Amino acid sequence: MLGHWLDFTLAEPPRESLPDTQEGRLPFGRYTLHGPGILELTPAVARPEARACVLSVGIHGNETAPIELMGEVLARLEAGLIRLGAPVLVVLGNIPAIQVGLRFVSTNLNRLFRRDLEERGDEPERARQLMAAVDGFYSRHSPRARLHYDLHTAIRDSRFPRFAVEPFATTAIDDEQWRWLAAADIQAVLHQHQHSWTFSHYSKHYHGAQAFTLELGKVAAFGDNDLTVLRPMRALLEALVEGREPPGAEPQRMAFFRVEHELMREAEDFTLCFADDTPNFTEFSPGTCLARDAVAGNFVVGDRPLSVVFPNAQVERGARAALLVVPSPSPT
Ligand SMILES: [Zn+2]
Repeated sequence: MLGHWLDFTLAEPPRESLPDTQEGRLPFGRYTLHGPGILELTPAVARPEARACVLSVGIHGNETAPIELMGEVLARLEAGLIRLGAPVLVVLGNIPAIQVGLRFVSTNLNRLFRRDLEERGDEPERARQLMAAVDGFYSRHSPRARLHYDLHTAIRDSRFPRFAVEPFATTAIDDEQWRWLAAADIQAVLHQHQHSWTFSHYSKHYHGAQAFTLELGKVAAFGDNDLTVLRPMRALLEALVEGREPPGAEPQRMAFFRVEHELMREAEDFTLCFADDTPNFTEFSPGTCLARDAVAGNFVVGDRPLSVVFPNAQVERGARAALLVVPSPSPT
């Protein structure tokens, strides 16, 4: 069943016959379907050191590589090639957006994960379902250590094609996380400097989970992803699913950055001074003009170089048009 779960969930038109709740057996445990795109795997025997793992994909509907990667892991579990040894919640995020191959349908789901959310609509409703699913999962498996990896791909090229975004929250990140991410071939880490209401932030902020948003290359259509470059990441996910210690490597392999400044769009008349397809982490030297804004004026790089991440001139007024980041020391 697991190997078909993704296809089944994403079938267009939707299969009316898909039940809301469904349970079944796996070679080393069982699965429970809590709702569309919300699948819990329960091992027959959980290893003592296993984490309660939330693994989410498709929070942005056009980011297909993580969905294919999760499909491989589920198929290998079902075939008995890997042995379930940890409780795992697999989440397929924005199902209608995945079906039409768009980042979102009405609004960006990955800014809605807050308990005081008041917005109405399909994506806010989905955020509420997913928050409830995570709350239930972590409470069922308390006091097991909590982990959440939210898997994405980026819209643009990047100097570091695979990078982790560390959500801002008071929970400290364990040193082992840096070792695991380095071994999984993550090339850079970006520390966020303030709350941003993403899915991984939700698990870290409200549940004290070890949580990251992982950007795993660039957006492509289903079937056009090169999953071979994600083998080290698959090895990390499979170790977690098996409840055993993942491979480790020196964290110093990765480049660490922190946010120095958020470039906000203030005016209707607003432009970024660099090409639309500028790769993430491109560095600009002092004196370079990065943005022209009829209200805020020009933004010029000061004394030290700044690198640009997630630039987007098309955001609404008052929203973030880019993160400007600087290198930071390795945390270990
Ligand atoms: Zn994304």
